[in-house]
Amino acid sequence: MEAERLKQLWEQILTAIVQRSKRSKFVTWFKNTALLRLDGTTAIIGAPNPFTHETLVREYRDITQEEVRKLLPEVEKIEFVVDGSLHAKDSRIVNVDKIGEEHKRKTDTAREVTLVEGLSTKVLNPDYTLDNFVIGPDNQLAHAAAVAVARKPGHAYNPLFVYGGVGLGKTHLLQAVGNEILKKNSKKKIIYVTSERFTNEVITAIRSRKNEQLRETYRQVDLLIIDDIQFLEHKEQTQVEFFHTFNTLYEAKKQIIISSDRPPQDLDSLEPRLRSRFEWGMMVDIGFPDFETRVAILQTKCQQKGIFISQDVLSFIASNVTESVRELEGVLHQATGLYELRHITPTIKTVAPMLQKLHPGKPLIGISNQQPGRNANGAQNIESLVKNVADYYKLFVEDLLGENRRADISLARQVAMFLAKKHLGLTYQAIGAYFSGRNHTTVMHACEKVATEMEKNQTLKRDTNALLHEMGVL
Ligand code: ADP
Ligand code: MG
Repeated sequence: MEAERLKQLWEQILTAIVQRSKRSKFVTWFKNTALLRLDGTTAIIGAPNPFTHETLVREYRDITQEEVRKLLPEVEKIEFVVDGSLHAKDSRIVNVDKIGEEHKRKTDTAREVTLVEGLSTKVLNPDYTLDNFVIGPDNQLAHAAAVAVARKPGHAYNPLFVYGGVGLGKTHLLQAVGNEILKKNSKKKIIYVTSERFTNEVITAIRSRKNEQLRETYRQVDLLIIDDIQFLEHKEQTQVEFFHTFNTLYEAKKQIIISSDRPPQDLDSLEPRLRSRFEWGMMVDIGFPDFETRVAILQTKCQQKGIFISQDVLSFIASNVTESVRELEGVLHQATGLYELRHITPTIKTVAPMLQKLHPGKPLIGISNQQPGRNANGAQNIESLVKNVADYYKLFVEDLLGENRRADISLARQVAMFLAKKHLGLTYQAIGAYFSGRNHTTVMHACEKVATEMEKNQTLKRDTNALLHEMGVL
């Protein structure tokens, strides 16, 4: 079946699937997937990487199979396979962002927070959802409590008190509860404030003698989210105001969610009666995610951004970020920048300097000192260049120099020839001689082929750029 037809079929199937799924999840998991071919009674569906593949098999196999069979009665089963060459610009790819726009309006809306009159409130960030919060042993309880609160606000755990260090996902989780509640009922009045902001409001109210009015406003709220409560320490008046607000909402069974960098008992300069209020509900801590969870967070964020970074690079980043998820995201953001803006595939060598900058002087895990980052030893002769290319493609130098015509080996060999010409400026004859005495026309052909192919094939372009980058050229 020709490519265009497969693409149309896949688009129809996706349009059916989106109706049965949460759209944000659908977009995450079906991005860069394709109906690759129909093999007798089996439909083969490609996923761009192993992580997506795993999730599709686990969560979407049944509905995908049902929808495929509705459309193609001859198909008996579906099979998901990993096809690393699938990427956004690929002609086989259907743009999932356009699918189910209608549906989106129905399910993922509610971004508009009903503002309580007279109150400045920050609108919730729609990117923070309970679904895209990656769960691991160190945040599982906090996530479960957030889900319970979103399901039955004001009932399950009131207040919900989430505490933990900087950049571990507290704000994400707090806002996610708000987003979830709004999704179910966009009329709910939600206030998200940081305690600094709350303090400022209290100060303004006091100055203009409008304390009563401020209390009145807060009383209308269904859900009050107050982030980073530790900043209320030493602010006695604000604490008093908050105490009253808290009591009013609590008695009216309105949900309160609080975050802090410490557990309540360690908030030494907070009024004891306030501290004890916090202990009435549910207290959960959020810790720094373990290695596997960090990798999963990176994978999820790559999915959301629609870029593919190989597993070994993600593991390398996850091994070397040991402070906060925010740091993890920072490195990923830089790696994405390489990929999107400079068309360079992130590799261990290209991301190493980013990680090194976070912790200068600290040895990196997963890269030997003999394998320094870029610029340290730019391949200046053909021997080191061929070694770099072989390493990059996880092949042996002998493969590249030898006669093996396997597709991946030929490609790596041609790339090495191309770079030797472009980067080292060697003659076709010299390059041919190095590659086991090949004819200069073979080398010429290889160089031309890589150059034209790079225009069409983004992956090849990024890989070649990554090699140049590793050599300190780009
Ligand atoms: P905190 O408020 O604890 O300082 P944030 O909620 O601002 O931390 O989190 C920092 C960043 O890390 C955010 O972009 C958030 O989306 C991300 N993040 C933290 N934990 C997770 C997680 N478990 N899954 C997905 N993203 C996370
Ligand atoms: Mg925060």
